[in-house]
Amino acid sequence: MMRLPKFSYLVPQTIPDAAKMMGDAGPAGQFVAGGTDLYPNMKRRQQTPQTVISVGRLKELHQIAGDGQAGLRIGAGVTLTDICEHPVINRDYPAVARAAKLISTPILRNMGTIGGNLLLDTRCNYYDQNYEWRKGINFCLKKDGDVCWVAPGSSKCWAVQSSDLVPLMVAMGARVRLVSTVGDRMVTAEGLYNDDGIDYLHKRPDELLTEIHLPPVNNWRAIYKKLRRRGAFDFPVLGVGAALNFAADGT
Ligand SMILES: Cc1cc2nc3c(=O)[nH]c(=O)nc-3n(C[C@H](O)[C@H](O)[C@H](O)COP(=O)(O)OP(=O)(O)OC[C@H]3O[C@@H](n4cnc5c(N)ncnc54)[C@H](O)[C@@H]3O)c2cc1C
Ligand code: SF4
Repeated sequence: MMRLPKFSYLVPQTIPDAAKMMGDAGPAGQFVAGGTDLYPNMKRRQQTPQTVISVGRLKELHQIAGDGQAGLRIGAGVTLTDICEHPVINRDYPAVARAAKLISTPILRNMGTIGGNLLLDTRCNYYDQNYEWRKGINFCLKKDGDVCWVAPGSSKCWAVQSSDLVPLMVAMGARVRLVSTVGDRMVTAEGLYNDDGIDYLHKRPDELLTEIHLPPVNNWRAIYKKLRRRGAFDFPVLGVGAALNFAADGT
């Protein structure tokens, strides 16, 4: 059985407190929401924060406000199940509800959040293994080693972003709010990601993702298609999100 390493667990009640706790923890700190990505990674010693700061009690992160006419604000701590079942999301942004339904299993969707989904660690068959397995190949560039086993001549890690919601958020022109002790900024979903398996986000580790803004629907229609090895729960081998703007005559 894989066990979690020892760590301190903090539960802030407000966003400023969460930002301050992360500022105090420094590089040894990491936020957790549902923990469905972070805790398995900690058990495999892929991510090893000494201070884990829960976003679970931050009320603002659990709210959904607005609609397709005005645009929708979804708190980063809203669960995937709530995204799947929310009446306004199903009515005005059905592609988002459908994409969320394709993620993992009902139990994991009850725990997993939209914020955690957008910030998933990148994945690779040489990295998503337990500590002993990775030690057996002398680790790899992404964690504890110095060779990339996918492309041994490469100085870059090719681990991939494997979230089902990210392609759709990028296609739909979503924006996210990032908050830290230094300030508060909005970033486009497209601008949030970096094409590097190790340094995969244009987000500082101390920044808390508080909410996701979906633009007004107007004449846009979106779709998400997922290719996976099994019809049951599986990460996407390929995920494609698209958004089309239709003219008034439907063309
Ligand atoms: C068996 C299994 C199958 C899965 N299948 C899929 C799948 O098919 N598709 C898919 O997309 N995902 C899949 N997942 C991944 C995961 O369950 C979901 O993506 C889920 O939405 C992650 O959300 P979480 O709240 O649990 O994230 P967490 O594990 O809590 O966090 C994930 C990352 O985001 C950071 N984070 C979380 N919230 C915040 C915040 N508010 N601000 C700043 N940082 C934050 C954490 O520090 C961590 O780095 C699967 C996981 C498992 C275990
Ligand atoms: S460096 Fe990245 S792409 Fe290469 S083996 Fe490790 S995780 Fe995979």
